Amino acid sequence: MLEYIARASFRLKDRIINKGEALRLSASNAAQIFERGYLLEKSIIGLADVIAAYETRARVLVEKLQSTSDQASKKAMHYVGSLLIRYESMKGIGQPSSAFLQEVQEFNRTASGKNPVSKIISDTGAGEWAGYNCNIGEGCSHGCLYCYASEIAVTRFKRVASKEAWLDEMLIDAKTGKCKKYPVPIMFPTTHDITPVYLPAYRCHLFNILNAGNTVIIVSKPHRECIEAICAEFSSFRDSMIFRFSIGSLDNETLNLWEPGAPSVSERMWCLKHAFEQGYRTSISAEPMLTDRNGAERLYYAVEPFVTEDIWFGKMNNVGGFRKSENTDLARSATELVAAYQDAEIMALVEHMEALPKVSWKDSIKEVIKRSKGSQQ
Ligand code: SF4
Repeated sequence: MLEYIARASFRLKDRIINKGEALRLSASNAAQIFERGYLLEKSIIGLADVIAAYETRARVLVEKLQSTSDQASKKAMHYVGSLLIRYESMKGIGQPSSAFLQEVQEFNRTASGKNPVSKIISDTGAGEWAGYNCNIGEGCSHGCLYCYASEIAVTRFKRVASKEAWLDEMLIDAKTGKCKKYPVPIMFPTTHDITPVYLPAYRCHLFNILNAGNTVIIVSKPHRECIEAICAEFSSFRDSMIFRFSIGSLDNETLNLWEPGAPSVSERMWCLKHAFEQGYRTSISAEPMLTDRNGAERLYYAVEPFVTEDIWFGKMNNVGGFRKSENTDLARSATELVAAYQDAEIMALVEHMEALPKVSWKDSIKEVIKRSKGSQQ
């Protein structure tokens, strides 16, 4: 008997075989179906072991995410479907469409302003991920309550009149048509997000920067419309870009509380899966973690199969100040986060998760680890 994966749904005798389903068939039984293009022999799929991936995913869904075995087997099958789509996507490299290249050409012809790429001075925060940043806007409709960029723009430099005015997105004139190659990755953006307002200019700048040979880390609370539009035109740059999507919790109400204008958790998960299926490199930032250590573990297992790189965890700065908010839900959530961020809780999280292959700790958690190890000596 040989093992096969169904690459599309089909009928086999009296039952429907679903796309992604694993089958054991004799070579003679498989031959006819194989010829009709419905089967992939697992040894030729180019993935380490799709059957094992199915079984592992189904087990994790039951053990870590409390799925029933029926739910787990359906979800694991969908996951195998995603692996197959990714496998097919990676066979080819699509060049940018001529319509998009013309859009970039026209954009560059009329662009004015300065080079938006600048050096990151710190080796924490964005500096842990990249050596340069790039931003093309002031303001962000996501309106995250913990937003450092709005704090700088509104409170420190008074470039923006108020936190309400920060929600209005203003594209900044910038030129990247003659972008040079930088020695280390560029994080784009760092002080706004890739929202529908910024998307047309974002794609043109991204093209210019990647076309100059740079590596770009795309950090976003992703909108479906934006990620689809980027994935559609940039597959020839897949090796030079990483999508790093921000998901601090799987709980939508909590996201809504802290990030009121940002996409829902299901939209962000959709974007992660889509980028993965389209063959891109993917990563997650759970900074800030908007959950306790149990929620962080669930988050890891929910996103992990679709992540090719790292899953980052970090704390929110100054969360304690929100405990006195007039919004009682926010005050309660802040109180819970303060408790979850206690050193003992963070160390329990670290000890529980540090052996997991895709976990990375941001500077706020590394500090706790250092402090705890120091106090044990
Ligand atoms: S998405 Fe980023 S830039 Fe936009 S409000 Fe939230 S933290 Fe600020």
